[in-house]
Amino acid sequence: MSEFRQNISTGEWVIVAPERTKRPADYCRERQKTQVPAHSESCPFCPGNEHKCKEPVYEVKSDGKWTLRVVPNIFAAVNRQSPPVRAKDGLYLSAGGYGEAEVIIEAPSHNADIAFMPVEQVQDVIRAYRCRFNELSEDPNIAIVNIFKNYGPTAGASLVHPHSQIIATMVSPPHITEQIFYARRAFNTWGRCVYCDMIKEELAVRKRLVMESEHFIAFCPFASKYPYEMRIMPRKHSAIFGTITPEEESDFAFILQSVLRKLSLLLDYPDYNYYIRSVPNSDGLVQYYHWHLAITPRLVQAAGFELGTRIYINPSLPETCAAELREI
Ligand SMILES: [Zn+2]
Ligand SMILES: [Zn+2]
Repeated sequence: MSEFRQNISTGEWVIVAPERTKRPADYCRERQKTQVPAHSESCPFCPGNEHKCKEPVYEVKSDGKWTLRVVPNIFAAVNRQSPPVRAKDGLYLSAGGYGEAEVIIEAPSHNADIAFMPVEQVQDVIRAYRCRFNELSEDPNIAIVNIFKNYGPTAGASLVHPHSQIIATMVSPPHITEQIFYARRAFNTWGRCVYCDMIKEELAVRKRLVMESEHFIAFCPFASKYPYEMRIMPRKHSAIFGTITPEEESDFAFILQSVLRKLSLLLDYPDYNYYIRSVPNSDGLVQYYHWHLAITPRLVQAAGFELGTRIYINPSLPETCAAELREI
């Protein structure tokens, strides 16, 4: 039986229409399983090819060798040389392509996988996210710092080498500003953070919970747009990702790696994206928003109905997905 479900934090609707036959195996695609080598001569992110990248803006070293690097993206869609100025183009509005695009090279090894690398390495990745988020947020012309990962070709990854990206832009798109506005309206109405309420609910009913750690919970959202979609949220109310403490950082690395590992094992290494949603540092310690990380596996494709209505049809029940993820 299908039903409409509303995302309480955005007002968006989805249709959950579980197909009885859909099991994890139905989502496992036939892929050419090629062995990825630990080093590739042609990979610009592999040790020895550092000259193919720009100078790093952040680096972690051990015994004189780098173990993580953040470099400016050479194919950047935005840069800080463009003027951060809006201009009228006849009827329309345009602006200089002001922003910053960086690549986080997560490990020297070409075939490392964030889901299976040593957890200390994942902690370095999260620390790099935090440092770059805070530094880029200091630029008054930057409206939003977006940290994300594309894993696998259908998720938009063009290089195999383990990496994530940061794109900071001078404009914030309507669907993000509206989400923040929606949360602010909920706060004005109920006097509480809608995300904190959601965390409380998920911990009480537990059927969509994937796992919990000391400082975070991971769950499949009630109104998931995609099968096996997950959110990781800090238990403590916190609007800004950049305020994460070193202790929370280690715990975040642990829970992120654990859920990505569950996803990889349950669905045979599916392609996925994840992104961190946060208000910018300049917004101060707001009470109405709650930063989080969203994971969206690329198992089904959005089509005309989704493009036309932005109502997503999810063929899997989030409660079933959570139970399967919990057990693995
Ligand atoms: Zn490589
Ligand atoms: Zn909250």
